[in-house]
Amino acid sequence: MKVWAIANQKGGVGKTTTAVSLGGLFAAQGERTLLVDLDPHGSMTSYFGHDPEGPDESVYQVFVAQEDAPPLDGLLRRTRFEQLELLPASTALATVERRLIGKEGMGLALHRALQSYARHYDHVLLDCPPVFGILMLNALAACELVVVPVQTEHLALKGLERMLNTLDMVGKGLGGARIQRVIVPTLYDQRTRASKEALARLQFLAAGSIWHGAIPVDTRFRDASRAGVPMCHFDPDSRGAAAFETLAKFLVLNSEAAPIPGMRVA
Ligand code: ADP
Ligand code: MG
Repeated sequence: MKVWAIANQKGGVGKTTTAVSLGGLFAAQGERTLLVDLDPHGSMTSYFGHDPEGPDESVYQVFVAQEDAPPLDGLLRRTRFEQLELLPASTALATVERRLIGKEGMGLALHRALQSYARHYDHVLLDCPPVFGILMLNALAACELVVVPVQTEHLALKGLERMLNTLDMVGKGLGGARIQRVIVPTLYDQRTRASKEALARLQFLAAGSIWHGAIPVDTRFRDASRAGVPMCHFDPDSRGAAAFETLAKFLVLNSEAAPIPGMRVA
């Protein structure tokens, strides 16, 4: 079972879109795939037609259960897509930070819950909230690779620095191993100079840890989200779908190879 987190301490950079698009692709390729929504806003949960305001049968239970390994069975939802399951979020997730702060071992709750399902899934993708806290910490402690979508826009580069510092800090706390990461340029608009410049800067700053491509701005993503369908099914011939296919191949190859060397950004 491969576990990847999709994280950035900034909203609107394409995290949920990346999680759904990659999850849809892996499932379509026959991998038993689980998408976990760790954002109290529940965008991914809504994407698949579930209401995050609804009952608390959600990933929330993983964080408040008293037992060592809470059963996920009653929390999982099927999607309309074969091999693709969802562990939804609920708005109650927002209270997890306050309830669990300072409680020992809380950083590993998700890891423990997922490990007992290691034989059920080939691939798990964790969609993180845009803030660092217990929820993101759990994702980083449970995954072997962090995918960091970064908008190709000047201001977003600062956010990247913050996220990389967080990864280093958490990595040290988890025993010193470097958390493997791949930066993914998103919302790239090749017609604008600002976007091109931001991409070039990103490629320089993140050399060695960045995917060589970029996810283009494509209005089909909004349409796909409205339809509740991953891009590879919604419009397989779109530029967006093609970009995610290339990205998925790159990530699979690189997660199996030796860790990518360090970044120039401190
Ligand atoms: P995050 O999870 O980081 O907050 P989302 O994936 O929810 O970001 O994306 C924010 C909004 O931007 C959504 O409405 C989504 O449909 C749209 N979006 C994401 N990626 C793209 C893209 N490459 N092109 C056009 N719209 C996009
Ligand atoms: Mg999101």
